[in-house]
Amino acid sequence: MIVVLKNNTKKEKREQLIDLLKDMGLDIHVSEGKYQTILGLVGDTSSVDIDLIESLDIVDSVKRVSETFKLCNRKFHPDDTVITVGNVKIGGGSMAMIAGPCSVETEEQITAVAKAVKASGADLLRGGAFKPRTSPYSFQGLKDKGIELLLHAKKETGLPIVTEIMSAQDLPLFDDVDVLQVGARNMQNYDLLKELGHINKPILLKRGFANTLSELLMSAEYIMSNGNENVILCERGIRTYSDYLRNTLDLSAVPMLHELTHLPVIVDPSHATGIARMVPPMALAAVACGADGLIIEVHNDPIHALCDGAQSLRPEEYDELAKKVRLVKSAVRS
Ligand code: PEP
Ligand code: MN
Repeated sequence: MIVVLKNNTKKEKREQLIDLLKDMGLDIHVSEGKYQTILGLVGDTSSVDIDLIESLDIVDSVKRVSETFKLCNRKFHPDDTVITVGNVKIGGGSMAMIAGPCSVETEEQITAVAKAVKASGADLLRGGAFKPRTSPYSFQGLKDKGIELLLHAKKETGLPIVTEIMSAQDLPLFDDVDVLQVGARNMQNYDLLKELGHINKPILLKRGFANTLSELLMSAEYIMSNGNENVILCERGIRTYSDYLRNTLDLSAVPMLHELTHLPVIVDPSHATGIARMVPPMALAAVACGADGLIIEVHNDPIHALCDGAQSLRPEEYDELAKKVRLVKSAVRS
């Protein structure tokens, strides 16, 4: 349920109403927009007397929110959420560029890629240290050593880092990581999501490859309802009937998510297609349809990559793409 307050409502009147609603056992989420203040009511609202609340002189209107997701719902928070990481803003029409290898392999590899993508204007460095591989016999990542190498690359370049967490037990290793990624395979790992709700860092939440948008939003809700509202959503392709591509990039999810939620939405064209030459066209399409950022795999030696070489751009290909991204962005957004 949302309560829209009249303009110029006095703070103390607003606080009285909030206290009244809290006494009914509800959590109140205040969204102070440019034009309107909205109180989002979370909890069992069945006993709230809508007519009574609506009759109060500071209340403009009261509406039930039928969707099961509340905190990430745009009705609760009409303005876009903008998440700041270092000097980078993600959300509200940004174009945050996240680039780097699928996996951290060696100091030389991650540092070389970090320097190259930075020179091409990337805002954040990605690289997997804990890798969720389909086969237990594949490279599983360098784990704590991988995080150390990412931090070294961060020191060398100044780029904030994004890396995947697979288990809450590993959280102490992520103290200096800027953005924690929840991969597609863990999108519904509710214990992990709840734990990430207790920290104060941005979470990059990827859509599971067989999950609907409501399921993605409910997973965001798990993080937010535990206290961490810094969630970035990522469309990374879903399973359909595609026989030539790794997944199907559901770009229509981007404008639909922008309607449904105030959270930033970015796109991963690398895992969506699985083929390096398919990455640039889909990345540009993602920019055109309103993505707030891109996460792209880049490797300095894709042929010898320990993971996802086939979908990794070489630094010079990434550089060319980054220029086109800027062109498309300026063409479609005023
Ligand atoms: C990744 O980004 O390295 C990754 C494993 O992606 P996804 O979870 O989307 O498969
Ligand atoms: Mn990968």
